[in-house]
Amino acid sequence: MIYFDSTATTKPTKEILELYNKISLEYWYNSSSAYTMGIKSNNLLQKSIEVVKEVLKLKDHNVIYTSGATEANNLAIHGICNNYINQNKRVITTKIEHPSVFNVFKSLETLGFDVVYLDIDSNGIINLNQLKESLTKETVLVSIMWVNNIIGSIQPINEVINILKEYPRCKLHVDAVQGLGKIKNNFDFNQVDLFTMSSHKLEGIKGSGALIYNNKINLTSHIQGANQQLGIKPGTVDLASAVTTSKTIQNVYKNLDNNYNYVLELNKYLRNKLNELNITINSPVKNVSPYIVNISIKEHNAETIMHHLEQKEIYVSIGSACGSKTKKPEKTIYALTNDLTLATTSIRISLSHHNTKEEIDTLIKELKEYLKK
Ligand code: PMP
Repeated sequence: MIYFDSTATTKPTKEILELYNKISLEYWYNSSSAYTMGIKSNNLLQKSIEVVKEVLKLKDHNVIYTSGATEANNLAIHGICNNYINQNKRVITTKIEHPSVFNVFKSLETLGFDVVYLDIDSNGIINLNQLKESLTKETVLVSIMWVNNIIGSIQPINEVINILKEYPRCKLHVDAVQGLGKIKNNFDFNQVDLFTMSSHKLEGIKGSGALIYNNKINLTSHIQGANQQLGIKPGTVDLASAVTTSKTIQNVYKNLDNNYNYVLELNKYLRNKLNELNITINSPVKNVSPYIVNISIKEHNAETIMHHLEQKEIYVSIGSACGSKTKKPEKTIYALTNDLTLATTSIRISLSHHNTKEEIDTLIKELKEYLKK
């Protein structure tokens, strides 16, 4: 089996699964309980938070463990915006966000917010002038993803941070799912008000992730319950999920440079081979994550190609896994190319440090076979 879909999810490592089992069996207590085992469980929770803060070099941020980035993004955006319902405040995002951000902004339109969706240029990057022109004194939130999950473009988060310095009331939220642990951050996480991650993209456990936010922010609870996790994510804490998320973050940061350099080599190799075929590479060439290469093969049905490859036990994605059951044009590819054909024929090839050049050769061979038909 050749897996080229690590942007969708990854297989958890044995170490992480064993840790999940160990914590579940040895510390299955309620970490809010006042007796010793509850206190010990809570200590483990606090220790895991400290590890996350240490690895990401955070000073004043809270770590809230969630059921993944979808929940974390919802908690972040609603947590800010609940303070401003029906006040006609401006909020800004991009046209290429993951649905767990994009659809929340769509819902904000119905809650009396003035929502601006930033365009992207032909390299998949937002226009900083458009951001500057859109910002007003009434803007309360800007949400911009770090790395796009469809084409891999890397947004200029540092520049956004600098622009927002003139708007102290406006908070910055960054969906860091496809960047954190995969590419180096050229910005300081301390300067991002709220950001989110997902463990299963990083060989961690599914249904696990985190919302990390500056403790000076007045974040409101979007879910009502008791006061676990500062009341932001109430409910009995899944300690095994928390501890393995912390360990996952630690693991990916340990190997970040090696994995990045290896995947960059694979990326160059893949792009060279793809250039021999009559296809369009949608992913930009610069400011892009080497982990994602998005292509379109015009006049060919992406789904048929995907199934052809699947028969050869090669797994790629059409659109994103989250959207691949809908046959709508891929919104990121459309925002990038303004071309409906490219947007309905796109295929995402994801790379990881487990892939090899031989696997890429096999993929290219099978694509060539298919295109000959
Ligand atoms: N944001 C981005 C950029 C993603 O790629 C994903 C996963 N497809 C998510 C958010 C949602 O993550 P989760 O599966 O943990 O809810």
